[in-house]
This record gives sequence, structure tokens and C-alpha cells, in this order.
Amino acid sequence: MGDMVESDNLSGRLVVTTALDQHLEKFPALISLSKEQFKCQRCQMVNQKSLYSLTADVFYCPDCLVLGRLTNQDYLLAYPEQNNFKIPLYPLSWRGTLTPKQQQISQKLCQVQLAKQEHLVWAVTGSGKTEMLFAMIAQAVSQGERIALAAPRVDVCNELYPRIQAAFNQVSVSLLHGQGASTYQYSQILICTVHQLLKFRAAFDLLVLDECDSYPYINNPLLHQAVLQAVKPRHCLIYLSATPSPEYLTRIQAGQLNYSLLNRRFHGHDLPKPQFCLVWKHNFGHLNYQLQRQIQFLIQQQQRFLLFVDSIRQAELLSQLIKHHFPQLKQTFVHAKDPLRGQKVQEFRDNHWQALVTTTILERGVTFYNIDVLVWQADSQRFNVQTLIQIAGRAGRSADHSDNQVIFFGQQYNSAIDQAIKQIERLNHDV
Ligand SMILES: [Zn+2]
Repeated sequence: MGDMVESDNLSGRLVVTTALDQHLEKFPALISLSKEQFKCQRCQMVNQKSLYSLTADVFYCPDCLVLGRLTNQDYLLAYPEQNNFKIPLYPLSWRGTLTPKQQQISQKLCQVQLAKQEHLVWAVTGSGKTEMLFAMIAQAVSQGERIALAAPRVDVCNELYPRIQAAFNQVSVSLLHGQGASTYQYSQILICTVHQLLKFRAAFDLLVLDECDSYPYINNPLLHQAVLQAVKPRHCLIYLSATPSPEYLTRIQAGQLNYSLLNRRFHGHDLPKPQFCLVWKHNFGHLNYQLQRQIQFLIQQQQRFLLFVDSIRQAELLSQLIKHHFPQLKQTFVHAKDPLRGQKVQEFRDNHWQALVTTTILERGVTFYNIDVLVWQADSQRFNVQTLIQIAGRAGRSADHSDNQVIFFGQQYNSAIDQAIKQIERLNHDV
């Protein structure tokens, strides 16, 4: 670790200050665009003064409120990035190996980093995308660059942090997000939520944006702005996704964004292809007969499974109905508002439950082995193409059980289901 000096903590930061601050570089936090409109210089969002006023002539920005309230009486100050790091001779302490395909992408990323380009890594779930970044990050560290790994969600950051620390144990690594990891310390590698990037200005030489297709980043102009402001004018920006959204696909098709595709998991087997089961008739409040038959089959096979549903209410209801029909099956439900959520997921991992009825909270980031996946009402509006592909990706995670079943139940075969199945087929055929 480098010797930290007080001023390092300001390096690359955008800080809030007052009119009393004598610093020549300070600038107003909010600027008037017209009599009625103003623009925030921290998040660049435009709002109406009359809607967000505190007194007759004091107004505030509602968009970046989560980082502290900025009013038109505040000032901002951007401290230049010093890149003041003690650089280890061998930054990478990870000693694992990559598959030939991973190796190929890893080398590509090293070139992209040198050329300061933007690049998308389209890597199916379970393909080991993090390890592919290591050589590039090590190269950037050696060059004294400052690096950020940002993700839209806190749990992704929390999962990434120990892995990066272990892989780069000679390098300063810190974690920053609004839920219990908010003590900031200057470091060469920062892992943070995308929101936190608003606290930086022209700080990062290399920025990796994980899950660039997921909520809340997707379609969020404020978070897109956060990324653009946090990087230096000359930078390298890497997007990671298992299911790129149209925003990226359009840019790829227009030749505006290069990408690397990793469509094989570690074990090299195909992704399980979802089957569609057309639901003939469904009476609310009853356990559908086709679903019942499938569950009966899974119980006989002693196969563990996840049953995805589109709402909290459905999760509780279906779990209740299954309990009534199959009292012998060890199952429970889980959703975002469930206080026992963490415990239940752990119990499922520990084989205490054979089945879990879940909302989309288990769509990403969680790895279970040898799990079949059922999606009830897969034709619901709540399940888009990306979500369905992510959910299907919960199955077939180990080499021994790469043939896990994925079944989408629905009353209609809609375009999201069709596209999800076709995209998985395409990935399996190396297109
Ligand atoms: Zn703002």
C-alpha cells in the first residue's frame, strides 16, 4: 500500500463547498438556465425551480439527493487526479488459469486498455468474466492508472470486493456504496455502485461497468452521466453483460462498439435451452395441473429446483398451494421484502430445502449447482428478454449437471420468450 497523505483523499474527487471557500476553481452547484429551469452541475439533470424550492430563492436538485442535498447556495470543487500510487512489481497475485477462449478475450482487453477504447464483454452467466479482466487490470496498475469497477447493485459490489482484493493483494483496493461501505479511502482500485461515481470527476483511467444491462443503470440518464464524468477525457471503458440490452446491441450493429463474446461456460457445455409449456387453463387460487405434474415429476426424481414467479404475492401464494398439494416437499418462498431472505437462500444452498419459490431477486448473481428452473407465467410483463435469459442461466452451472431443465410456463408464447430462447440457441451455436 502507498503512503497515504491527507490530500490523496481529495484526488479525483468532486466535493461540495460553500461561497466562503476561497478556492479559485470552485463553481456553483446549480446553475439557472432560465427563470424557471436549473441544471445541477453534479449530475447534469435539469429541473424546475418552483417544484424543488426550499424558500423563495433557494432550490435544490432532486436527482442526486441520495448523495446529500445540493442547493443553489452550494459550490462544487473538482480536485485533479494525482495517480499517487505505490506500484508493486507484480500486481497480480491470482494464480489461476484461463480457458483458451477466456485467454483470447483477456488479451483483447489488454489491447483495448492500451488503446484507451470502449469495449463490451458479452459473457454468458457462469463463464468466468471477472478472471478475464485480471490481466488488463494488472497492466493498468503497472502503468500507475486509477481503476474503478462499478456495478448498479450493492450485492454485486460486495461479491466482487473480496475477489479483487485476493487477486491483487499488493494493490490498494477499496469498496464504496451507500449501504455500510461509505468510509472513503483513496485507493488504486475502487469498487463501487454507479451512484457513487457522481462523487468523482475525471478520476479514472480505466472503468469497468459490470451488469451494464441491469436495473437501475439501464435507461437511467443520471447514472450514464455518472460514468461519463468519472472517467478521464482519455480513458478505457469496459462494459460487462450476460444479456446486452438494445442500447448496446444497436451500437454494436452500427459499428460504434466493439465486443467480445464468451458463449461457453467453464465446463464447455451448452446453456440449457428452455422449453416452453403452454398453459391451457389457469384458475387463480388453484395450483395449475401442468405445473403440478412437473413438480410431481421433480419430487420423484429428487431434483432440486427454483420456481420463479412475477410478484411477491405470487411467491407466497404458490408456495402455499404447493404445500397443500405436496406436504412432503421441503420448500419455501423468498422475495425482496422477506426478512429471512438471506437465511432461506443459505438454507437452500445447504440442501435444507428441495425447492424455492422466488421472485426475480434470484435472477442474477447467485450460483447454485444442479438446479432445475421453472418459470411460472413466463409471459408476464415482468419478465423481459434479459430477465428470462438470466433466469435460465441459473440452471446447468456445473459440468456434471449441465443438462438441467428450464421450463417456461405461459398462456402465450410471446416475443420475450421467443427472443430469449432464440438468443440462447444462438449462443450455443457460436453465432
Ligand atoms: Zn444533481
